[in-house]
Amino acid sequence: MDLRFPFSPAEVAKVRMVQFGILSPDEIRQMSVVHIEHSETTERGKPKVGGLSDTRLGTIDRKMKCETCTANMAECPGHFGHLELAKPMFHIGFIKTVLSIMRCVCFNCSKVLADEEDHKFKQALKIKNPKNRLRKILDACKNKTKCEGGDEIDVQGQDTEEPIKKSRGGCGAQQPKLSIDGMKMIAEYKAQRKKNDDQEQLPEPVERKQTLTAERVLSVLKRISDEDCQLLGLNPKYARPDWMILQVLPIPPPPVRPSVMMDTSSRSEASIFYDDLTHALAMIIRHNENLRRQERNGSPAHIISEFAQLLQFHVATYFDNELPGLPRATQRSGRPIKSICSRLKAKEGRIRGNLMGKRVDFSARTVITPDPNINIDQLGVPWSIALNLTYPETVTPYNIERLKELVEYGPHPPPGKTGAKYIIRDDGQRLDLRYLKKSSDHHLELGYKAHFFSQNILIGHCFVVPCVVTIPIYGCRWSDI
Ligand SMILES: [Zn+2]
Ligand SMILES: [Zn+2]
Repeated sequence: MDLRFPFSPAEVAKVRMVQFGILSPDEIRQMSVVHIEHSETTERGKPKVGGLSDTRLGTIDRKMKCETCTANMAECPGHFGHLELAKPMFHIGFIKTVLSIMRCVCFNCSKVLADEEDHKFKQALKIKNPKNRLRKILDACKNKTKCEGGDEIDVQGQDTEEPIKKSRGGCGAQQPKLSIDGMKMIAEYKAQRKKNDDQEQLPEPVERKQTLTAERVLSVLKRISDEDCQLLGLNPKYARPDWMILQVLPIPPPPVRPSVMMDTSSRSEASIFYDDLTHALAMIIRHNENLRRQERNGSPAHIISEFAQLLQFHVATYFDNELPGLPRATQRSGRPIKSICSRLKAKEGRIRGNLMGKRVDFSARTVITPDPNINIDQLGVPWSIALNLTYPETVTPYNIERLKELVEYGPHPPPGKTGAKYIIRDDGQRLDLRYLKKSSDHHLELGYKAHFFSQNILIGHCFVVPCVVTIPIYGCRWSDI
């Protein structure tokens, strides 16, 4: 057992596979421990129930325990809550994909627009990579101005009427041209052709250019059949297109957005500095509440739409506050809020900065080199690096003589020889050979471990590793990530 972790009675499960997908609104509700309703965090000096610091979300206070798992601050990882949005909102990370999908399906009946006889469509179906597939399908649907298979048939479709009807069974509705403007989706209808009785399904002759609400888009996406999802390269089990529209917002727990208590000596003046995410979430909750109130009061449509736009802005900037053509959401001081996106991306972000560039013990980074004097499956590594990369080996009757020799050579072995860096006693105590000058201290016993320089990489004046450069990652644990 690893002593660095507290004891847990939970069974250790083996990870057999990892499946990526989009959280459905139901999944978000199910994983949530609390329905967040208030933007205030505290009430009379205590965390407000249903607020952003609700103790069921986990605790960042040394004195308090988590109300969900009863663990203390160090052990509780935090638990997600959720916020029910007053109206569906676009998810800024999915909006481009949503636009692509919307362009592929009928605005009226949600069927895929391309007809199965189309050469491009047939080609697209052969593509396994879902992303490429969506692109190809989009290509095949691009020039469709109406939903195929309705009552009205193209002139050349006259004699092939049956297969078309059978294949897609569309509704015949005219399709608007869709585009994105900031966080809005715009639908534009071409000038209507001469009307005849067959075209009853045409959208009512409203304004030719209209802004689509996320609600309207959601209703189209919801109607896409599972089969059509698959055609578009989406697995309906893990990523239904309608889940790309936010209906429920997951609320990350405080350990993700810790607030700093500045406890000045006088009790009343204890001030709290909130994390940017807490700030952004508070704004979302407040505007969500405002929108709901307007709706309840039966305000006129344009007022409601304005409030919805405001909420959409805060939801968008919470995810990404560097959107082109949009103003930045700021703190009261005027400093732009750090969004989730900026935590992840770029060199200093979580991926490149913390995961790929993780510094751990017993690893090193360097320039490696080929060399005419070494074998073809070997690489040169600088001496100083090689002196840092060690490998632990437990002392046994079979290797004790060899390890004793390595320990004797110590951390600065002579050229051509390999040495050792540490001795680890069976009680876990680590002896650093740099500071152990007396040879009586170099005593080895069975069960000890010696951290020695990997022998097979030592040749001449430089260490050489076998062809694939492996960097040992002992000492790295998941919680560090
Ligand atoms: Zn907990
Ligand atoms: Zn249709």
